[in-house]
This record gives sequence, C-alpha cells and structure tokens, in this order.
Amino acid sequence: MYDLIIIGGGVWGTAAALYAVEHGFGSILLVEANPYVAGESSGKAGGIVSDFVAHPDDRKWVARSRQLFRQAQQASGDTTMIAHDGMLSLCNPKEADQLMAQVAELKARNIAIEVWNKRQIIAHYPDLDRVDANIVGFWTPQDWHVNPTAYAQTTLAMAKAKNLVVHLGYRVQSIKVEDHQVSIKGPGTSLEAAQVLIAAGTWTRKLVQTTGQDIALRPYRAQLASLDFPSGYQLPIVREMSTDMYLVPDGSHNLLAGDGTRLWEHDPDNYQTSGDEQFEAEIATGVMRLISRAHTAQLRRSWAGLCGATPDRRPLIGKVMDRLYIACGDNGFGIKRGPAIGELAVQIAMGEVDAPHLDPHRYPPTDFPLHPGSGGTFTK
Ligand SMILES: Cc1cc2nc3c(=O)[nH]c(=O)nc-3n(C[C@H](O)[C@H](O)[C@H](O)COP(=O)(O)OP(=O)(O)OC[C@H]3O[C@@H](n4cnc5c(N)ncnc54)[C@H](O)[C@@H]3O)c2cc1C
Repeated sequence: MYDLIIIGGGVWGTAAALYAVEHGFGSILLVEANPYVAGESSGKAGGIVSDFVAHPDDRKWVARSRQLFRQAQQASGDTTMIAHDGMLSLCNPKEADQLMAQVAELKARNIAIEVWNKRQIIAHYPDLDRVDANIVGFWTPQDWHVNPTAYAQTTLAMAKAKNLVVHLGYRVQSIKVEDHQVSIKGPGTSLEAAQVLIAAGTWTRKLVQTTGQDIALRPYRAQLASLDFPSGYQLPIVREMSTDMYLVPDGSHNLLAGDGTRLWEHDPDNYQTSGDEQFEAEIATGVMRLISRAHTAQLRRSWAGLCGATPDRRPLIGKVMDRLYIACGDNGFGIKRGPAIGELAVQIAMGEVDAPHLDPHRYPPTDFPLHPGSGGTFTK
C-alpha cells in the first residue's frame, strides 16, 4: 500500500510526483497508461511559456513554472529544453485597448514588454511583411518555448532518484474509494494507496466517473502543424489574438503552427489524432496572411491533441471525495502553468494549502459552452 498514487505522466503528473517525493509524502507511485511519459497532450503541445496572462493565479503559476523548468534544464544539462525566442502578440486596435491594463501590470512586475506598430514589427522581423497596417504588436522578449517532453522525462528521472516508483504501460480502468484506502484497478492487478491524485488530463472525468462522482470537464481538440521552410526564416513566437493562430520557431527551418481548435466535446478514447484537412488548409492560409515567403513552405505533418475545458476556464484542483484528489482543466494553456499546478495539487492533498476557488465541485457536471483559447491572455 502506497501513501500516494498519482495517475498520469504528463507535465502535471510528473511535476506533482517530484514535489511529493521532495516533501515527505511517504511512498509514492506514478502510473501512466503509455509506455513513456508525455505521450498525450503534453508531448503534442507548442510549449509556449508566456507571462502575458490575465488571471492573478496564472501570473503566479507561470512565474513558479519558469523556475521549475529552469531547474529541470539544469538537472538534465539539456540546453535545448528552453528556447528563448520572445513572443510577439498581434492585435487589432480594439484588442490592444483591452490589453493595455495588462501591459501596465507586466511593467509593474519588471517584466519587459514593448508596444510595436507595423513599421517596428517589420524592422525587427522582416519575415512578417504582410501584417495589417493598423496592427499593434506586444513584444514580450522574456517569453520562451519549452520542450514539455524533455521536461517530463527529466522530472520523472529526478523523482525516481528520490524513490518514486513508476509503472509505465499501466492504464487504470477504475477507482474504488473505501474507508481506509483507495484501490485502482489496472491490467491484471489492483494497487492500493492512502490517497490518489488523478492528473490524467482529459481522461480525468472518465476516471472520476468510475467512483460514482462527476466533474465539469469537457475535452476539445487542438491541432498543430510542422512546416518546412527550405530557405529558413527569422521569427519569434507569434500569436495572432483575433484568430488564436500561433507560430513557434522549432529550429532554423521548421516552424510549428497552430491551433485549429475544434470547440465541441471529444472522447479522449476516440478522436482523430492527426490534423484534419480543414486545419491544414486554414493554417496554410493563416501563415501566408502574415508571411509572404511562406509560399515556399511545405507541410511536414500535423497532429491533434485534447484540452480540457471547464465552465469558468479555471482548472479543477482539489478533493473530489475523501482520499481522492484531481488536477485537470487546462483550457489549452497547461504547459506554461503545469509544473506549478502539479505542485499545488500535492500541497492541497497534503493539507498544506486550501484553494476553495479551484474546488472540483464548484460547478455541476452539466454541459456548458466551450470558449476559444487565447492562451489565458484575455479573462473570458
Ligand atoms: C496541439 C496543442 C498545443 C498546445 N500548446 C500549448 C502551449 O503552447 N502552451 C501551453 O501552455 N499549453 C499548450 N497546450 C495545452 C497543454 O498541452 C496541456 O495543457 C498540458 O499538456 C496538460 O498536461 P497534463 O499533464 O494535465 O495532461 P496530459 O499531458 O494529457 O497527461 C495526462 C496523462 O495521463 C495519462 N492517462 C490518461 N488516462 C490514464 C489512465 N486511465 N491510466 C493511466 N494513465 C492515464 C495519459 O496517458 C497522459 O500521459 C497545447 C495542447 C495541444 C493539444
């Protein structure tokens, strides 16, 4: 019998495991359905880490996650885990007005941000030659993109070095909460723990339902394409706020382009994991709208993963019933906040922190509208 079992080896689950082994939780087991970590949304993400987020919790979580990403990078010696590209958020004038309060807030926290017009954008990044004449660019030079798979692998290795037990290829089928323990049933065997934390991304709802409980989590689909620029390019991370399209530099010739969000509920056990034709056509048009030299670019491949929506776009973190805790509801921007959220979930399970505003039961598990992303920059 373990003190804690964590279900899920994405960014959230691996971060939770490391915090738990470092803070005296006792004997801890992490189980992951795939034979490797970061095999689902975490490994499919663009990996943008930006301070340009609206909610005070998110600002705090991004700041803490940056520390944890740096810590993992140092531990691994992998200098490519974090790429310091800077991010340019492209807005129309109305969106820009809405974001001015955040500009002041970032400056007050000594986070660099500059407001650029079209001339300044092109002076810095000539490849963005097709942006609109009235565009407003918010330049946040300290923003990164991170390799979430490398982070999760390193974090798992760090936790294993501190006695974390790991069962890969162990898909939990059901969870039974009893008076003195929680049992999880997987392939062939059942395992017991005093407490269980489900960090299974968009599968979390299905697992909770096996206990007779339910939560307000609806999975939706997001897509990413990898584009080959044969003659290279020079771009930062780019986010077009009106369309939610984003670009992430991935080496000198490879550009990632998303998001192709499909805002209806998807079944995590049965959805299209490749990019769809409509997305591939839309993303080609979108990239060409900003960059004329993109006409020489070729699509390498595209793929899709799931994000978990909640009614208020805030995560569900905390107790579902005695001994059973969850951390889910990333709403499409769970890498940049993930390491901090993993820690927080364990702090709540240990009784160190109380966060009633994140209570998993704060909304009834009924249908609710799914809202587009914008990476947490707008409070909608
Ligand atoms: C295309 C795309 C692009 C994105 N880009 C960004 C970005 O640029 N920046 C950003 O901040 N966020 C981004 N996101 C969101 C980000 O990927 C997620 O918020 C984040 O990965 C959530 O991490 P997680 O650990 O909660 O979930 P996951 O990574 O999905 O991990 C959950 C794990 O639980 C395991 N699991 C599920 N069921 C079981 C079971 N029954 N038994 C055992 N294990 C189980 C799964 O196999 C999986 O490994 C993107 C998402 C997508 C799809």
